[in-house]
Amino acid sequence: MRVRNKPWAKDYLADHQDLMVTAPEELKGNWHSRFPKDQPLNVEIGTGKGQFIVEMARQHPERNFIGIEIQMSVIAAALKKVVASELTNIQMVHTDGEAVNTFFAAGEVAELFLNFSDPWPKKRHTKRRLTSPVFLAHYQDVLQPGGQIQFKTDNRGLFEYSLQSLNNFRMVFDGVWLDLHQATDGVEDIQTEYEQKFSAKGPIYQVIAHFPE
Ligand code: SAM
Repeated sequence: MRVRNKPWAKDYLADHQDLMVTAPEELKGNWHSRFPKDQPLNVEIGTGKGQFIVEMARQHPERNFIGIEIQMSVIAAALKKVVASELTNIQMVHTDGEAVNTFFAAGEVAELFLNFSDPWPKKRHTKRRLTSPVFLAHYQDVLQPGGQIQFKTDNRGLFEYSLQSLNNFRMVFDGVWLDLHQATDGVEDIQTEYEQKFSAKGPIYQVIAHFPE
């Protein structure tokens, strides 16, 4: 996602240290200290402008949420939504989600969300895809037994790649949707900014899966 530079973003992040975690490694195994209630940790990597995580946190006060986003201007837009929401069950981290295994202890994460991850279609960029083996190995390190990865995208190529990649880790598929917006099984779908923008152009694909125990 290309975003115009926001000159105010750096100061805005610095002014909200109650919501922004600057040294996630120091919280490894101790994330509950950042929240009023000790509840299951749900992590979103590539949070974008925050619509999904804020709405999830609003609808699920019994869970805690952590949004990880690599671009400063983008996470600043998400942070604005978090501030406006006045929710206390969200924390944000401005960093590269690839190092997720250095931020969380083994089994510390209950659920992981990847929404409309950048497709990186060129073969030489495969390693940057958030469902590539190096990322999956790190997710496996931090997810609790049975903890799910929920991945959705409008990009068929990335979806097919991700199904194969998850399958190579012998992940168990809890659900696969080839047209999420036409689903009749009552599956929850809290929409992201990208989802709203691109769903008119074609189907939204989703897979929910967990690592074998
Ligand atoms: N999830 C949002 C949505 O659906 O509206 C944003 C989707 S956007 C296509 C992908 C986002 O993932 C971008 O904001 C990008 O900066 C972020 N991103 C890409 N690689 C990342 C990484 N390694 N760690 C954290 N964020 C990343």
